[in-house]
Amino acid sequence: MDRTPAKSSKRIFIGLLFALEAIAVLVLSLFWILPSLGYRFFGTEFSSFMGWALGGLLIIITLGILTLAGIIIRGKEIPGARKLRGILIRFFLPVITVLGSILGISRDAVRRSFIEINNELVKSGGFKAPPKRILVLMPHCIQKDDCPYRITVNVRNCRQCGRCDFSRLTELADRIGVEMTVATGGTLARRVIEETRPELIVAVACERDLSSGIVETYPIPVIGVLIDRPEGPCFNTRVSVDSVEKAIGAFLLRERPSDERENSETPAP
Ligand code: SF4
Repeated sequence: MDRTPAKSSKRIFIGLLFALEAIAVLVLSLFWILPSLGYRFFGTEFSSFMGWALGGLLIIITLGILTLAGIIIRGKEIPGARKLRGILIRFFLPVITVLGSILGISRDAVRRSFIEINNELVKSGGFKAPPKRILVLMPHCIQKDDCPYRITVNVRNCRQCGRCDFSRLTELADRIGVEMTVATGGTLARRVIEETRPELIVAVACERDLSSGIVETYPIPVIGVLIDRPEGPCFNTRVSVDSVEKAIGAFLLRERPSDERENSETPAP
């Protein structure tokens, strides 16, 4: 039986984005209203300059947040908005994680929401690569704790005994022909990425490792798949193999069969 991870919601992130917008309006308004008497002291021109500057900043922030919310709701990137994924990753994620904690929303709930949004943006970005250019990064904790085989060195050391999800995962990697690596931490994952230089990554991990991995590997497109922790963190964890296969499938550049290629290349009589 395949396992399906708990569904998270984009609404958490969108709600926090609008909370951030409300804070920006409040702070910039205060920056304008409170010292406006002081601005006038430097002359009416300086006062109106500050009004335009703060108003302009507010418009930029508002447009950025509205565009981002629009992309998230539609689940599609709009032309020229690819860089917004970078802004979402580098700027909004840390700010919104802090804001979420202040509002009593757990870090993992915000991270799950972020990973879901990131996955949709990446999928809608139309990134494709042949299997050899796709790296599948797995966490070590999926391996059965008493398994004697060292799959961190080579995942093909797995004997596919069926006691953990690596049984089906290694079969999946062989069938599709993607590179699958087991990383025991962020440092090793970074080294593997530097050495293999993948075009696209499917990463399996917990909320914390996935969200930090997506941030660190940007701009490489990453689809994240969350693990289940039926026996607690970092111990005999599980993953939906179907979800991993779907994530790889979203990236896979399928070669046309040779006879189909030949037919399309043969000019019509
Ligand atoms: S499926 Fe592979 S990794 Fe898992 S317990 Fe069996 S041999 Fe070990």
